[in-house]
Amino acid sequence: APTLQGKVAIITGAASGIGFSTAQSFLAAGVQGLALVDLSLLALQDAFSSALASPEGQQRILLLEADVSDEASVISYVSRTVERFGKLDISVQNAGIAQQPISIMDQEVDAWDRMMRVNVRGPFLGVKHSLKAILASPSGGKGGSIVLTASQLGLDGAPELSAYCSSKFAVRGLMLSAAAEAGPQGVRVNAICPGPVVTPMMEKTPREQWTTFAGKAMLGRLGQPEEIASGILFLASEESAFVTGASLKVDGGWSRF
Ligand code: NAD
Repeated sequence: APTLQGKVAIITGAASGIGFSTAQSFLAAGVQGLALVDLSLLALQDAFSSALASPEGQQRILLLEADVSDEASVISYVSRTVERFGKLDISVQNAGIAQQPISIMDQEVDAWDRMMRVNVRGPFLGVKHSLKAILASPSGGKGGSIVLTASQLGLDGAPELSAYCSSKFAVRGLMLSAAAEAGPQGVRVNAICPGPVVTPMMEKTPREQWTTFAGKAMLGRLGQPEEIASGILFLASEESAFVTGASLKVDGGWSRF
């Protein structure tokens, strides 16, 4: 199994869904320090109450309230992580929002801008400041890994989801650019592309749609957050030491790209 022993990691959007499962898998993989970022400290405290019940959990976990789309908040969550744990090795830029289906012709500009603000500006700022911290760490970047949560919808377009699809294609562009820039210093940057996964985000989609989604996957079902977390753990750990610039599909065989 992949190990994260001796590693310090940040996960954004950690209070729920894929981010929450990823945090559990990082703890199980022996991560040394784990900074968990989300909009509400209360939601984080709720989600990690059992992990924080032990002194060992309290030692390894740092909860940080931040809006990932605000640069001052991003600078703060990265610097507080380094102050607490002494370095940064891994940054999982996972926080994101979904959209209600709407045609391009009816798409409101404000909602479009909100989508780009969270789903694109958020990971851009996360990569910008995480990369600086990873390179400033004692390893000089060697063994560093950044994972961005894109989507199967960042590989395929889809009707009535133009804002979301565009944001996730942009995440992959950011990932490829960052991978090319950071490769020479030994930092890897990859994207995970989940298909439809049963999380609170998916709960907002009408149930009839779940069946349609399931039917589009070769495996004929939706994914579970733990199944995405294991892909993120692979990309974060040195099990994937020669993998960078990759978009890893964990979508039950939906996208053909
Ligand atoms: P979720 O809604 O369960 O969790 C997302 C978390 O991100 C929430 O806790 C939320 O509070 C947080 N968040 C949102 N905006 C934020 C902000 N501005 N600052 C800080 N935190 C913020 O959703 P999920 O399904 O776990 O999604 C996680 C990621 O996976 C997202 O990027 C999403 O686009 C992507 N994804 C999800 C699916 C799916 O089917 N669920 C499929 C493909 C990709």
